[in-house]
Amino acid sequence: MRVLVSGGAGYIGSHTVIRLVEAGHDVVVVDDFSNAKPTVVGRLEALTGTSVPVHSFDLTDVDKTEHLFANETIDAVIHFAGFKAVGESVAKPLDYYQNNLDSTFSLLRAMRRHDVRTLVFSSSATVYGAEPRLPMTEDLPTSATNPYGWTKVMIEQVLTDVAASDDRLRIAALRYFNPVGAHVSGDIGEDPSGIPNNLMPFVAQVAVGRREKLSVFGDDYDTPDGTGVRDYIHVDDLAAGHVAALDRISAGTTPMSIWNLGTGQGVSVLEVIKAFERASGRPIPYEIAPRRAGDIAASYADPSRANSELGWYATKTIDDMCADTWRWQSKNPNGYPDA
Ligand code: UDP
Repeated sequence: MRVLVSGGAGYIGSHTVIRLVEAGHDVVVVDDFSNAKPTVVGRLEALTGTSVPVHSFDLTDVDKTEHLFANETIDAVIHFAGFKAVGESVAKPLDYYQNNLDSTFSLLRAMRRHDVRTLVFSSSATVYGAEPRLPMTEDLPTSATNPYGWTKVMIEQVLTDVAASDDRLRIAALRYFNPVGAHVSGDIGEDPSGIPNNLMPFVAQVAVGRREKLSVFGDDYDTPDGTGVRDYIHVDDLAAGHVAALDRISAGTTPMSIWNLGTGQGVSVLEVIKAFERASGRPIPYEIAPRRAGDIAASYADPSRANSELGWYATKTIDDMCADTWRWQSKNPNGYPDA
């Protein structure tokens, strides 16, 4: 298939481009580079040995989106593009609702006009809300605790309704748990701008000396060691899950599917720190800080639906995730170069 990857220069998008090419698909990227560096494209081309066509614009631009679909052959879309910083979404809710929803509407309308019926959407375990039952199964009710999370809930609802209106559509929403790690080459990885919000990139920047110490947000949760528990999933396993979902929906007859992509294993903040110390051979200084607003104690998937329906399993351990993150961080201490 020729797959349009929106947000294909971003963290999960770029790893998925590699997996798509390895699986024999052709890829077209659309990215506005608002949160990605153009230098990622050259690295993708070097790693895949193929040219990666890139269209640089914001998908909320309906005319440009229409022009793209009119001028490229597109068989399927994987939609990663979107704003994703939880804290920023609380400060700028209108920006988040407008960007994440409008870009999806623009894509869906262009897909309809050009008879593209296969879509994989980048959703999140954040749709399970503030007090989820554990492990999280796909049939739990959805809600959110911040505007970013609500955009995922809302887009899932839009996709469900659109799929119900046309039984020729093949749509999947993939609910990611906590994506971490990097390509095994160390040439592609997560490159957050500014101070990282997420644990793994923050730990990696402490290890490489860019930050002095980590703040552990709370050690009094109802978890084995008191720190927050999450289901960390290697980004390359996650990327493989997109290819599996794409293959599955395009061969099937179901208009709307939802799959969790996680390992099913919970790992605490202190366990991540220890694993990263093992991987890097460096100490990770930390201090215990107050809980972060909006955090839940524990989050982990029941991935059995994806296991059985997609034949997909997360294969990599937390040690693999830390080793690959460290390879990326030590080879690229300041992330991607500007040019
Ligand atoms: N965390 C932390 N210090 C940080 C960033 C995160 O202790 O600087 C904790 C956070 O409280 C949570 C876990 O690490 O328990 C994962 O946080 P992250 O932001 O990576 O993912 P999310 O909370 O969205 O699942």
